[in-house]
Amino acid sequence: MLIVLAALAILQHAWSAYLTPAPLTSAWQGMAVNAVATVLNFFWASHMRSRGKALRSPALTADARHVMGDVVTSLGVVCGLGLALTTGLLWLDPLLAALTAVYILWSGSMVIRDSVGGLMDAAPADQIVQRIRALVGQHAEGAIEVHDLRTRHAGRLTFLEFHLVVPAKMTVSDAHQICDRIEEALKSAMEGLMITIHVEPEAKAKHHGVLVL
Ligand code: ZN
Ligand code: ZN
Repeated sequence: MLIVLAALAILQHAWSAYLTPAPLTSAWQGMAVNAVATVLNFFWASHMRSRGKALRSPALTADARHVMGDVVTSLGVVCGLGLALTTGLLWLDPLLAALTAVYILWSGSMVIRDSVGGLMDAAPADQIVQRIRALVGQHAEGAIEVHDLRTRHAGRLTFLEFHLVVPAKMTVSDAHQICDRIEEALKSAMEGLMITIHVEPEAKAKHHGVLVL
């Protein structure tokens, strides 16, 4: 929300600069400082983004987006100042400021969307669900069927639950062994999985979902 507010402040500033253009002072020094900060910010933001993705942390990803927003802002500032200095067109500076503000506004709204998704237990991506289903199918030997498989993200954790249908005469110990095998396979393949398996006798089979023999 602060990013969005900053964007609105820039827009307002650009508008007043457009209405009352003022001559630029110390422009070259400003551009040099900007260039150094931009290069540092770019590498910093890239690093935070990859760590944020790996850790599935909305806070890190949000900060990476914020710093990357700063990189674009600085590039906009350098281009605007350069053009305004070489052409003498003072309105170029506020125009680029306004374009940069629109970009920051967009990136801020994406941050808000992602954070809300994390709070609302959004569903994981299709490919992750497909991978989970494949792994469950491969390691459920001895069971008859898996159904009602549900997944949801909460922060960096993925919650997974499903029903495992086994022959009615199977012992609890044998059924539990199948559960352990599936859990082990899933946990070694994916990080941050919380698995709950509900075991059912074969009369409960629904004959849909991931079928296993
Ligand atoms: Zn069931
Ligand atoms: Zn157990």
